[in-house]
Formats: sequence, C-alpha cells, structure tokens
Amino acid sequence: MKSKIIPHASKSLFDELASMGHEQILICSDPESNLKAIIAVHNTVLGPAMGGARMWSYSSEADAMTDVLRLSRGMTFKNALAGLNIGGGKAVIIGDPRQDQSEVMMRSFGRFIKNMNGKYITAEDVGMTMQSLEYIAMETKYVAGLPKSRGGSGNPSPMTALGTYVGIKAAVKKVFGTDSLNGKKIAVQGVGHVGEILIDYLVKENAKVFVSDMYADRLKAVADKYKVETVNLQAIYDLDLDVYSPCALGATINDSSLERIKAPIIAGCANNQLADEKKHGDLCLEKKITYVPDFLINAGGVINIATEIGGTYNESWARAKTENLYNIVLEVLNNSEKEQRNAQEIATEMAMKRIQQIGRIKANY
Ligand code: NAD
Repeated sequence: MKSKIIPHASKSLFDELASMGHEQILICSDPESNLKAIIAVHNTVLGPAMGGARMWSYSSEADAMTDVLRLSRGMTFKNALAGLNIGGGKAVIIGDPRQDQSEVMMRSFGRFIKNMNGKYITAEDVGMTMQSLEYIAMETKYVAGLPKSRGGSGNPSPMTALGTYVGIKAAVKKVFGTDSLNGKKIAVQGVGHVGEILIDYLVKENAKVFVSDMYADRLKAVADKYKVETVNLQAIYDLDLDVYSPCALGATINDSSLERIKAPIIAGCANNQLADEKKHGDLCLEKKITYVPDFLINAGGVINIATEIGGTYNESWARAKTENLYNIVLEVLNNSEKEQRNAQEIATEMAMKRIQQIGRIKANY
C-alpha cells in the first residue's frame, strides 16, 4: 500500500529527506484543536531554522509534505545567500485557513514550536495573519514578524519590494550598462502587497510600467493611482519589454511563456518562478534572458524579519542589508555569464558554499 505522507512513494521518507538534505521533520497532531501540521527543519548550520508557517487546504498529506520539504530547503538558500545567520525551515498546517483556523489551533501549534527549543522559528506565510502570529506568540517566543506595536518588524512586503527594486536595477545595469530605469518598459504581473510598492519605486524613476492582475478592481485602483497602463492576464507575455517582473504566483516561467517572453530581463518577487529549475533556468541562459533568481531578489522580507531574532527590530540595518542585494545580484549574474551556467544554479551554489565555509569554522571548538 502507498503511504499517504511520503511524497514519492517509490522512495522511503528517509531516502527523500537524505536526498533533499533535511535534518528533522516534526509531525504535529492535536485532534482536540484539529491541528495537523508538519514542521521541516532543513539546515541549521548558520543558525536556527527560520521560515513562515503556511496554512492551506492541501489535497493530500503527501502534497503538504512535498510543499514543506521544498519550501524549507528554499529558505536555507535564501537565508544563506542574503548573508543572514539563520538556517532554513518551514511549517505547513493542513486545513482551510478561513474555516478551520482558531485560537486554540494556533496556540497548540505554538506549543509544538516551543518544545523545539529554538531550533525552528516561525513567521507569517500564506493563510496566516498577524492575529495567528499573536496567538502563537502566547505560547512561544520563537516567532518573528510580529506587529511593530509589539516590538516586531511588522509587514515584510515593503522590504521585499525594496529588494526587488534594487535587484531589477542590478539586472538592468548588467544588461544595459547603466542602472537607470528612465524610459525602461517594465511589466509587473500581480499588483498585491509587494507589486504595488514596487510600482511606486519604478514610476518615481520614470519607467514605463505595465500592470496585470486577476482582480479587476484591484488592478484598476492601482493603475489609476500610479497612472500606469493595464494589460490582460495573457497579453503580458507578448509585450515588447525591457523587464518582465513576476510578482504574483510561481511557475510562470515555463515552456509556453518562454516561447513568448521578449524581455531580456526577468526579475520579480514571486516565489518558485521557474516551473522546472534546471530546464527553464538553462532555457533562459540559452535564450540570453537574464533571469534573477527569485529566492535572492525576494529576500528583503526575510531580512526584515531576521532583525527581530535575538534582539529588537532595527529598520536601518534591514534596509542596508536589503539594498546590498544589488551587489549580490550583480555577482550572481557576472558568475553566470562567466561560467555560462544558469543563474539559479550559481546562486544555489553560492549559498551552499557559505553554509559549508561557516560550518567548517564551527568545527573548531
Ligand atoms: P499578494 O497576494 O498580496 O499579491 C499577489 C497578487 O497577484 C494578487 O493581487 C493576485 O490577484 C495577483 N495574481 C494572482 N495570480 C495572477 C496572475 N496569473 N496574473 C496576474 N496577477 C495575479 O502577494 P504578495 O505578498 O504581494 O506576494 C507576491 C509574490 O511574492 C508571492 O509569490 C509571494 O510568495 C512572494 N513573496 C512575497 C513576500 C512578501 O514580503 N510579501 C516575500 C517573499 C516572496
């Protein structure tokens, strides 16, 4: 019989964890509060594993496990490459966040985190709110991204937008020789929390901005506010652009979109943009499209949250560290060009190298 929780049932769970490099998985079950959660600690060489908790109506336990394994691994690379001294982890809670989430469930989840004694620190992700974090914080101190009124770092989106903006500028510098965005044609796909603030930065630099969003009312409100042109959902891939900036959902860089995208640069905040990391990363290189790795350009949010850990929130530190993503993006793109290997691969290797080097110095008592 196939296990319901092992992602690829041909492999044992331990084989799966070994191949992806995870340290620990905690299955949290509390039937009284209806809590079914999985906490994945991927790597703690640099520090405690940090990554948000996501609540989602997964269609199966295996899907939830796949998601938490992939997301926690991604956090390891994101945190390492951003120069943070934190490791990678993530949690998923199985259930409909609107129907099933309750104070008791969140506090119960908080007790499981507390019992990990700081090995995993949680934060907000899809399906969670500031209120969810506040319930968790009633049971454990290992939670970050709390409201500013509680001494936390608050909403991470403005810092994510700043990082995305400087990342776009670095890619423009690489491709056009100057990082001025004046007159550059940039399409922002998704005008949500991050997208809107990014548009503000772009418009202030006189870029020619195009926007699309699934929600017509939201799209119109943002387009009117910033006086930018709207495009429909599919047409965005056919525009004559300098930069395509995916700021909605993942996997928009795939076989079909790569046939159509004419922009020489892809740089946006969405997570997991490449449908297949290897195949579509290589295809971007082949088509001479400069792709800025998502986990690098969208690290502003986690940088912001990380400042809370072990101290008090320091906005100017977070801002300086986020602005430095400009230099890291340029380094990745230069190495990608020099070695003729895809940028996602290069960025992942740079992150792994930092983990190995710091891990080695820690071997000395
Ligand atoms: P959000 O939910 O506020 O905004 C996303 C927007 O994209 C919504 O307005 C939605 O209607 C729109 N959208 C969805 N599918 C679309 C499509 N096919 N075409 C056009 N628009 C579409 O989310 P957000 O917080 O702005 O985050 C955007 C992306 O960045 C997500 O992938 C998120 O995981 C990633 N990210 C966000 C942060 C952060 O600090 N908020 C940090 C790192 C990564």
